[in-house]
This record gives sequence, C-alpha cells and structure tokens, in this order.
Amino acid sequence: MHAFSYKNGQLHCEDVALQGLADTYGTPTYVYSANTILDHFRRLHLALGDLDHEIAFAVKANSNLSVLRILADEGAGFDIVSGGELFRVIKAGGNPQQCTFAGVGKTREEIIYALQHQIYSFNVESESELRYLNEVAGELGVIAPAAVRVNPNIDAKTHKYISTGKSENKFGIDFEAIIDLYDRASRELPNIRLRGLQMHIGSQLTSVKPFMEAVEKVKPLALALKEKHNIEFWSIGGGIGIVYHDSLASGAVSWWDGQDAESKPLTIEEYGAAVVPLLQDVGLKILLEPGRYIVGNAGVLLTKCLYEKKGSAKTFKIVDAGMNDLIRPALYEGHHEIAPLQEHKGDLVKADVVGPICESGDFFCQDREMPDFQPGESIALLSAGAYGFVMASNYNSRPLPAEILVDGATHRVVRKRQTLEDIIAGE
Ligand SMILES: *Cc1c(COP(=O)(O)O)cnc(C)c1O
Repeated sequence: MHAFSYKNGQLHCEDVALQGLADTYGTPTYVYSANTILDHFRRLHLALGDLDHEIAFAVKANSNLSVLRILADEGAGFDIVSGGELFRVIKAGGNPQQCTFAGVGKTREEIIYALQHQIYSFNVESESELRYLNEVAGELGVIAPAAVRVNPNIDAKTHKYISTGKSENKFGIDFEAIIDLYDRASRELPNIRLRGLQMHIGSQLTSVKPFMEAVEKVKPLALALKEKHNIEFWSIGGGIGIVYHDSLASGAVSWWDGQDAESKPLTIEEYGAAVVPLLQDVGLKILLEPGRYIVGNAGVLLTKCLYEKKGSAKTFKIVDAGMNDLIRPALYEGHHEIAPLQEHKGDLVKADVVGPICESGDFFCQDREMPDFQPGESIALLSAGAYGFVMASNYNSRPLPAEILVDGATHRVVRKRQTLEDIIAGE
C-alpha cells in the first residue's frame, strides 16, 4: 500500500491532497494514514503466522489517542513507559491487562496506578526496582506480575543513542546475573509473580541478524526460566527498522524495507521468516513491542517555506517547523525525505532546510539536493509518524502542532493546534 504519493502532481495521503489540509489547518501539522497503521499491524501478525504471540504497540512512538484507538480496536496490546501512557491507553479504549510497563525509573505513583489497573507485566530493569515493586504490591495487598529485562550484550548496529542492548547501556540486567536474580526473587519477594522475561536491543534495526543473535543467545535462558520459574512469556522487544531514505521514490513508504548488511532489501515477511523458526519450539508466549515499524512511515509533518536565504556558502530554506516540532535530525541525526506538496519536475538545488529556532541544531537537512521549492510553498517531511509529535515541545514558546488522521478520502483533526493561551495555562 502506498499511503503517500503524488497523484496529478499533488502529494496525497491516501485519497486526501495534503495541500488542502495545509491550506485549511495551517502548518506545521502532522498527518497520519490510518490504513497504513492498520496495514503494518496486520502484516506483522501475518508474518508471525501461528507462533503464539501478541503485539504490544510501543506507545512512546506515537501516543495520539486516535492512533491508539485504531490499534486497540484491532486487539493490540501496549508497551508503556509511564503512568501518563497508561492513562492514554485507557482513554483510548485499550485493555490495561494487555499492557507491559517498561522503563528504568518507575515512580511509586506510577506503580500504584498500574497495579490498580492490573497490567499484564512490569518489565523491571534493576534489582532495586524489583524489590521496591514487591514492597509497594505488599502495601496494596496484591501480587505484582513482573519480568526482568535482560541485557544480552548484543550490538544492534544502530545509532548509539538508540542502541540499548550492550552492557554499557543503562538498560536491563546483565545476562549472567539473571538466573540468580530470579532465584533470589522467588525466595525473598513474596508479592512478585515472575511472569516473563524481556529484552529490547535497540531501535531502527535494519538487519535481522542482531535480532537473531539476541534470540539465539537468550533462548537457553528463557527455557531455563520456564523450567525453573514457570514463566509464561518472553518479550523480544521492538526495534524493527523502517526506510527513511528515498522512502517516496522507492514506493516503499508504507512498510518496512530495511537493508541488511549485504544491502539486500528486507521485508517484514523476511523478519518473520527469520525469527519465527527460532521461537516456535520455546513454548512461551512471544511478545513484540514495535513502535516505529507501525507508525513511522504512516505519518508526515507538513511545513511551509517562509524565506529563502542565499549566503556565500549555502542556501537556506527557512520553514515554519522547527526542532521543537520534530527533533529527530537534531537528536539522532535522523533523516527525513523532503517532498513539496506540489510536485516539482525541474532541476534539483543543494540547500539546508532549517527552522526558526535559535539553535544551530535546528535543521531538517544540510547540503542536500532537493526540489527548488520557494517561500509560500509547503512541503512534507516524510517518515515522521514515530518519535515526531511525541517529542515536540514548547521551546521558544511555540504552540504544539496540530495532528490530522486520514482514512481513505476522509480526515479528522485528532489534536488541535495549541493556542498561546494553552502554552501559558498553569503559569
Ligand atoms: C522504545 C522501545 C520499544 C519500541 O522501539 P521501536 O524501535 O520504536 O520499535 C520497545 N520496547 C522498549 C522496551 C522500548 O524502550
């Protein structure tokens, strides 16, 4: 499915022309394709075949209530990292009993909130957290379901800021220490039910090899814990990468099509074909926690060009979105393709696309060949559906952008643009 493509020279999301949305609702605005989200979720299900599995969408990638509702209606579970995300899942009609709670720093209030809603599992990242969870559950007179996150010490070969499965990362507990910890917990922590095992080696993985290595390495541990502690699930985390480069030209904009080490395009079907055989005989429910794969290429950020500035060294195209709206380029050297809403056929120019923020890191691309769009024209920054709006801030007192959900030929504003009054409310 091609959710974002030119039709008669106009960039569309499904059957809606994006220029119309920019004209009606202004910019910057995020636009999401409902059918792309559904397609990705269903394709992953299919790729896993008859493996006993559950997909828990990583809410932190995109937590808009209407996006969560699409997935809740499909029966998805949710991987949350805060009490706020649990609140959103509940508001969106998701089932807390299909929620796993990740993160290294859960607070007392968050633990109580999640216990009250009987989430499926706390995915615990340290022994002190496990002990604290036991204590809080005891105070409430309940048993807390828990899994420990194992750090398999595998190099995910992704950007260092989104690599999480090496011993030097803050995440998880050393592979070698896990069995002892489960033994100790089962002896000493009466309010904990050891329900599973969790891992997550990083994000934006474009090869199946690190996934396979991690699964192969951790499998004996998972089997041992099943045998000894009767665990019922093994979460293999998220991290499935997507295409950011040439995502429009390749026609692969709507689904994962990463490159493995030999530059052979990979599909979600190949991901399934690689991991399912390794997991089939484990006899545990397999959880997956994809975020980016589900929503990354299902969203774009619309922004309007305000000015062009030709210096002696560079041409800058200054747009009305900034790093406060989409921080991936500044934070992770993230790449977003640039597509004018009205198709350009002429020559390309080399330019920087920058925002209005008073930071040199406020750019969307540097020295890139692109269509020579001009002030007054609007463009789309592609592949902005994951880690886009959720990381937006009010830096420079800029209102948070609007969000629109497209479904076929229809669209809905699923979050209004903030007003200046919204920004100062509470001060
Ligand atoms: C961020 C995160 C995910 C989702 O990662 P993606 O790369 O978006 O798939 C899944 N599990 C955990 C524990 C995470 O922290």
